Amino acid sequence: EVIEREIEAMLGLRDRREKDSELYKIANEVFDRTTRETLAYLHRRGKIEALYGVISTGKEANVFAGVDGDGNRIAVKIYRTYTTEFRRIWEYLAADPRVGYLPKDMRKLVFVWTRREFKNLQRAIKYAVRVPEPIIFRNNVLVMEFVGDELPAPRLKDVERELTREDFEELYDFTMSVIERLWKRGDMVHGDLSEYNILLHDAPVVIDWSQATVKRNRMSVELLKRDLRNVINYFGRKGVDVDDFDDKFRELIG
Ligand code: ATP
Ligand code: MN
Repeated sequence: EVIEREIEAMLGLRDRREKDSELYKIANEVFDRTTRETLAYLHRRGKIEALYGVISTGKEANVFAGVDGDGNRIAVKIYRTYTTEFRRIWEYLAADPRVGYLPKDMRKLVFVWTRREFKNLQRAIKYAVRVPEPIIFRNNVLVMEFVGDELPAPRLKDVERELTREDFEELYDFTMSVIERLWKRGDMVHGDLSEYNILLHDAPVVIDWSQATVKRNRMSVELLKRDLRNVINYFGRKGVDVDDFDDKFRELIG
């Protein structure tokens, strides 16, 4: 079938025949028909020339390294269309005033979730927060700038053993300024800001904007508290002279 061959070509399998590669196994396991069609569409549009490696496999999405038609490196986040996270996704979307109609069908709900992450990335950039530049989304596939050199940039969690107190202090200031800028200027909250969602490249980059939302969301204050608590606790454990949670919270809310 045409689409099958197109996907094989994108994965470099036509030439290599490496059908036992990790990439092939994961693609085979998680690319359902919709995903294959979506990838084939993006391929025809030159948005994804090839996928050549798996960066991360998660409960709700897999992230791949690839290149676009112009040879630029990209990261491709592909949400699973069948996820055990359906309930959580539904609840988060239902609370977001930007989201209108909520599809009953899981697959379509995941499309809404993907689009929202894309919009969140655009919005964060507008408020000068460093994130992977969003390039295009379609259905459950989000194409963005690849953060890294040869290899994807490490997460803060991956390199914390190599960092000094001064590094943590700088990173704390960076992270706190992201929280403040998002909330005060962008009317926005990330909602899952932690050492797992900060990549260290030339400068720190904040990723994973799927649960981010706007201040008007009735859950936003809870999410803000969660981010503040996680960040203050983490950097406090690393020896940084962190802010008092209540003071910071009141300063932001008041
Ligand atoms: P998890 O559940 O593991 O947190 P997730 O579904 O929340 O995964 P992300 O956090 O967005 O998805 O991405 C998973 C991992 O993929 C990240 O921890 C990071 O290592 C890598 N990654 C994501 N986006 C990029 C990017 N643009 N460039 C390089 N690596 C990336
Ligand atoms: Mn993540």
